Amino acid sequence: MPPHHRAPEALLTALAGSRSRSDRLTHTEQLPARQACFSPWPDGIRPEIVAAARTLGVELPWAHQAEAMNLAKNGQSVVIATGTASGKSLGYLAPVLSDLLDGTEAPNGRGATALYLAPTKALAADQRRRAAELAPDRVRPALYDGDTPPEEREWVRQYASYVLTNPDMLHRGILPGHTRWSSFLKTLKYVVIDECHSYRGVFGSHVAQVLRRLRRLCAQYGSEPVFLLASATTADPAATAERLTGLPAVAVTEDASPRGPLVFALWEPPLTENVGEHGAPVRRTATAEAGYLLTDLVGAGTRTVVFVRSRRAAELVALQAQEQLGPPLAARVAAYRGGYLAEERRSLERDLYSGRLLGLASTSALELGVDVSGLDAVLMAGYPGTRASLWQQAGRAGREGQGALAMLIARDDPLDTYLVHHPEALFANPVEATVLDPDNPHILAPHLCAAAAELPLGESDLDLFGPSTAQLLPVLEQRGLLRRRGAKAWYWTRRERAADAVDLRGSGGSPVQIVEGRTGRLLGTVDAAAAHTTVHTGAVHLHQGRTYLVQDLDLETSVAVVEQADPPYTTSARDITSIAILGTDTTVEWGEARLCFGSVEVVNQVVGYLRKRIATGEVLGESKLDLPPRTLRTRAVWWTVTEDQLFDAEIPFDQLPGAAHAAEHASIGLLPLFATCDRWDIGGVSVPLHPDTQLPTVFVYDGHSGGAGFAERGFRRAGQWLTATRDAIAACECERGCPSCVQSPKCGNGNDPLDKAAAVRLLDVLLAGAPGQGASAGGDG
Ligand SMILES: [Zn+2]
Ligand SMILES: [Zn+2]
Repeated sequence: MPPHHRAPEALLTALAGSRSRSDRLTHTEQLPARQACFSPWPDGIRPEIVAAARTLGVELPWAHQAEAMNLAKNGQSVVIATGTASGKSLGYLAPVLSDLLDGTEAPNGRGATALYLAPTKALAADQRRRAAELAPDRVRPALYDGDTPPEEREWVRQYASYVLTNPDMLHRGILPGHTRWSSFLKTLKYVVIDECHSYRGVFGSHVAQVLRRLRRLCAQYGSEPVFLLASATTADPAATAERLTGLPAVAVTEDASPRGPLVFALWEPPLTENVGEHGAPVRRTATAEAGYLLTDLVGAGTRTVVFVRSRRAAELVALQAQEQLGPPLAARVAAYRGGYLAEERRSLERDLYSGRLLGLASTSALELGVDVSGLDAVLMAGYPGTRASLWQQAGRAGREGQGALAMLIARDDPLDTYLVHHPEALFANPVEATVLDPDNPHILAPHLCAAAAELPLGESDLDLFGPSTAQLLPVLEQRGLLRRRGAKAWYWTRRERAADAVDLRGSGGSPVQIVEGRTGRLLGTVDAAAAHTTVHTGAVHLHQGRTYLVQDLDLETSVAVVEQADPPYTTSARDITSIAILGTDTTVEWGEARLCFGSVEVVNQVVGYLRKRIATGEVLGESKLDLPPRTLRTRAVWWTVTEDQLFDAEIPFDQLPGAAHAAEHASIGLLPLFATCDRWDIGGVSVPLHPDTQLPTVFVYDGHSGGAGFAERGFRRAGQWLTATRDAIAACECERGCPSCVQSPKCGNGNDPLDKAAAVRLLDVLLAGAPGQGASAGGDG
C-alpha cells in the first residue's frame, strides 16, 4: 500500500471520532497556507553560486533570504529567525561562499575565511555537504572536530577557507592554539552560528564567552568578522544574538517561504484506573497515547513521525504500534534514535521518503536528518521544552499545496496540561526568549584565565568581557591563577592549560563516573551537582534505554558502581533544603506582597529515597541515606505575602505549608514557558515563616552556581508567569492535586503537604496587587 494523502481535517475526525476520544481533543488551530515571496539575487552574490543554486532548484531566493544576504554583504551581523525548511542556510551560505570565492583570487588562494559553528557534529557534517554543493571546489570547506585525524588537521589550518566545527573544539583546540591558526584568523570574514537558540542557560553562557575570546584574538590579528546567526523562531532574536556575540545584530523574521495549510491539534490523554502518590489520579502517558494514535495513522496509510523525549520512548512507541498493527503493516513502522549508526539512520530516512516506511518514532528533531520533511502528520509526545523546538518538529509536516496534521500530546505535568488548555500560549506571540547569563562570575572566571593564557589581558579587554570583569581580575590574582605584570596586564602563569579547567557543557565539580561493576565498563558520567539525587546507593538509573541499580556511590573517588537489573520500581530521592538570602538586588511591591530578585545560599542534603511502582507511582518503601549536605550559591526570585493577605485569602496557618508548597511546585513547572529552561534546571523552596523575611516566602532558584538567568527571567515576567501558574492549578480537573498540576516528580518531600485549593487562593491574593494582572487573577477557574 503506497502512502496516501488525506486532508488533515479528515484524519483528525477519524482519530477523535473513534473509541469516544472526542474529549481528548482540546483545541484545533488552522494555520493557513502561505504564498512564496521571491526577491532578485543581491549584487555581490557570485554568479557561480547563483548558477549552483539554480542547479539545485532555487531559481530566485525568497525575500527573507535575500534580505539576510544583503545585510551580510554590507558587513552587518544578522540573525535569521524563520521557520523550519525556510532555507536559512542559503541565506548565510550565499554571501559567505561568494566572499570566500573572491578570496580564492588572492595570491595565496585564501584571501578570506569563514568559521561555522554547530551544536552537534552531525549538523556540521550535513552543512559541509551543503556548502560543497553550492561552492566550486576551490572554496575548500572542511570539518574540524574531535574525529578529524591529526594529519588532516594541519591541512585544514593551512588551506581550508570554510572550517566547520563546534564551540567545544573552538574553546579547547582553536583558541588556545591560535598561533597555528594565525593565517586563518587574519582573514576571518564571517562566523556562522547555526541553531543559535540551542546556546542557552549555562552552556549558552559559556559559548558567549568563547565567542568573546574569539573576537579578541581576531582583533589582535587584524580581522573583525561579521556574525551570521540562524535560529528557530523565538521571542526577541536580536537581543539573544547580541547577548551571545556581544555585537548588535539585525533580526530577519519575516518568513517568505511557502507553506501548505497545517491543522495543529492539542490532545490530552485520558485518566486511567491507576492511582499515584497520595491516591492522585494518573493520566495515560503521552508515549502510550502516541502509540495508539500512530497505529491509527499508519493503518490509514498516513506518513507519520512521532517525536518523543527519550530513546527508550522511541523504541516503546514503535513496538506498541507494531504489535497493534500486526503483519504486514507492522514492518512499515520503525524507531529512529541517537545511538544508531549513521548508515542505519540514512537508510531509515530513505525508506520514509520512498514510502516503504509509514511510521517512525524518533528522538529530537536535531538528530533526524534535515531532509525529512513534507510528512502528512507529525505527533509530539510531550511538549519538547521550547516553542522553538515545537515549531521545528511541527515544521516537518506539510508540503506546498497539501494540508498536513501536527499534534501535541500532553504529558501528565503542569506545563503540558496548561498548554493544551491555553492554546494562545502556543499560537499567539512567542512568549519565551533564549536565556543566558554570560556575566555569571562562575562562568566568566575560567574564560578570563583561558583568555589570559591565549594573550595577556589588558585594560582594553574589560569592556569586551562584561561588567563583572574588573572585580574578578584581582580575585583571580589572589587565587594565584593570574599574575599582574606592569600596571595593566594580567598573565596566566600556571603550567596546565587554562582551557582544560572548564567543560562548556558541564556545570562545575568533577563529574561522577558511572561504572558497571561486573565488567568495569564506564557507562557515562553525571554532573557532580546531580549525583546525590540521581546515582545514590540504591538508585535506579536509566542509561541508553537500559536499567541499572546503583550498588555504591563513592564520593571520595567520584564513582558510582552499577549493575544491570530490572526492578519493578523507580526511585526518587528525598531531601532537606534550607535557603538563606545573601543579598536582594531588586524588590517590587505588589500591594502588600513583595517580589524580589537576588542572591541566595541553598543547603541541600539528600537523606533517603522512595521506591515507586513503575506504572502507577505507588510508594513501595523508603530507605535512609547518609550523604553530606551540599551548598549552592546562586540567584533566586522570591515572593512574600503578609498575614493580612493570608487572612483575606482564608488560609489558616495549618493550610499555609501545603498552599505555598503547591504554588512553588506549579510555578517551577510553568517557568519553562517564559525562560528556555528545563524544570530540572531550577529548584524551589517554600517556607511558612522564613527567618530572613519574617513572612511566608516562596523561592525559585537557578540550579547552577552563580545562576544561569532563569530566575531573573521569572522575576521580569513574574506577572504572566504566576498568573499562568495560578490558572494551571485552577483549571486541573483533579480534586486534590495530581501530577498535572501541583505534584512534582522531583519533590524531595514526597509531595507532602500539598493543598491545591489553598494554593489558588494564595496566588490570587498575591496577584491581586500585581500591575495589570488583577483581571485575570480573578480568573476563569
Ligand atoms: Zn491536578
Ligand atoms: Zn516539593
